[in-house]
Amino acid sequence: MRFFMTQVRMELRICMPINAKNNPLHSYEQKAIRNRHLCEKSYLGKINVNPSCMTLHDYLDFVKQRNSHEPEFLQAVDEVIQSVYPVLERHAEYRKLKLFERMTEPERLISFRINWIDDKGVVQINRGYRVQMNSAIGPYKGGLRFHPSVNQSVLKFLAFEQIFKNALTGVPMGGGKGGSDFDPKGKSENEIMRFCHAFMGELARHIDHRTDVPAGDIGVGGREIGYLFGAYKKIKNEFTGVLTGKGIGWGGSLIRTEATGYGLIYFAENMLQAVGTSIHGKTCLVSGSGNVSQYAIEKILHLGGKAVTASDSNGFVYDPAGINEEKLEFIKDLKNNRRGRIKEYADKYKTATYKDTSSEVASNPLWAIKADCAFPCATQNEVSAEDCNQLVRNGVKLLAEGANMPTTPDGINILIDNGVMYAPGKASNAGGVATSGLEMTQNYMGTNWSSGEVDEKLQHIMRNIHETSLAAAREYGKPGNYMVGANIAGFVKVAKAMQAQGVI
Ligand code: NAP
Repeated sequence: MRFFMTQVRMELRICMPINAKNNPLHSYEQKAIRNRHLCEKSYLGKINVNPSCMTLHDYLDFVKQRNSHEPEFLQAVDEVIQSVYPVLERHAEYRKLKLFERMTEPERLISFRINWIDDKGVVQINRGYRVQMNSAIGPYKGGLRFHPSVNQSVLKFLAFEQIFKNALTGVPMGGGKGGSDFDPKGKSENEIMRFCHAFMGELARHIDHRTDVPAGDIGVGGREIGYLFGAYKKIKNEFTGVLTGKGIGWGGSLIRTEATGYGLIYFAENMLQAVGTSIHGKTCLVSGSGNVSQYAIEKILHLGGKAVTASDSNGFVYDPAGINEEKLEFIKDLKNNRRGRIKEYADKYKTATYKDTSSEVASNPLWAIKADCAFPCATQNEVSAEDCNQLVRNGVKLLAEGANMPTTPDGINILIDNGVMYAPGKASNAGGVATSGLEMTQNYMGTNWSSGEVDEKLQHIMRNIHETSLAAAREYGKPGNYMVGANIAGFVKVAKAMQAQGVI
């Protein structure tokens, strides 16, 4: 035992903080690997961790040990640490303050029961959550998702991504996310309303327009935001901008509905312009047929491109003639009002074909259609490695994510290794939350901007995110790598704020 303690003391000395300036050839990674066994002991709780010992794998191990049952969250953390590790190598002060480790731990995680009564008079029980992940640069901000796949891991991954996405927008917003395993499919209007009111009955205790401002996400659109807002107003007896995505006429911002899809295509246009081309004349694959997809298709049309696909969780339609304005209106009515299935598009338009898909299969034939650009806008991990190989074989030039984390990690590597321009969701789909930030500003100021003004600000924000991501990638020796650039730029902004605010 005494021998072991002596060993530990000796190794602790070896592991004393390294001055990177004096040892430019010694990276923290190399030092840490030499002392790796000590770092591993640290995680077993035997001694206090020395931050200068941390290898990239140690950071991952740290998060894995605490969240081993949360695969989506670990996937999101893995992607970010791979990108930001060089920043930690350069900044001993970030390591010492354990900023990355602290960012992976929610500031607050609320889980609650939702009771409601269905149309048959039967009591239903669902689970609700709000993950208040990081408030270093502003109030928690992030959507609410109602979908049977919602669990703690999914919401933590979304809240973690939201920290960096929100930082990239330049609008002061922290990261959060929430939702429920409630499935809105097949529910009546009254059931949706009763559920939303019951959900807000608990959530209202934890949010406020200066503390945490939720918005929509999968399964939560304008209708649900209306019911949630109504319940909050009644419970608190106050009319404030506590939610974004509100209706025009009761605090909502023009262009918020369109913002994620529009912003995605603005971002893609910036990427294409950076290599001397544009979306004009390009054939585009779009997945999903919800909010993000509808307005991505609309902006592709505005900019002279051609979207040829749309999908839902049952299958996809392929329309080689292109989805024009009339067909897009059909999709909007089908999905937003009639709440039907995308198959009906092919029943109506004979230029289109419909194919069933299954999430059990490793590839989705939608991504095997020949095109120039791909825009996954449905859900996480919807583009597999096999799909990416197929996209590469078909000569796709660009994939920009409208959904959050839709491409699997090995898929991303295939795209980047084969020179496909790849934009991660936290950069390319940030237009929605950025415009939510603009809605908050209008609410605080008690004013309304015209759609032209909001659209101009949105374009400006997307251009800034594009430039900021490229600049950070260049600075860290990965020119043109939007994933590395976006992760680093977002991380540094939040890290500086956390450093300034001390260990709290
Ligand atoms: P939405 O309006 O509810 O639409 C979601 C679409 O994706 C629907 O077509 C849905 O089909 C499909 N989908 C959902 N789960 C699926 C699955 N497991 N497999 C295949 N298709 C699936 O949601 P949204 O707001 O457009 O959000 C789409 C994505 O964008 C999400 O990843 C979300 O986090 C991200 N995002 C949204 C915003 C925003 O402002 N709304 C902002 C940033 C990022 P069904 O109708 O069959 O379910």
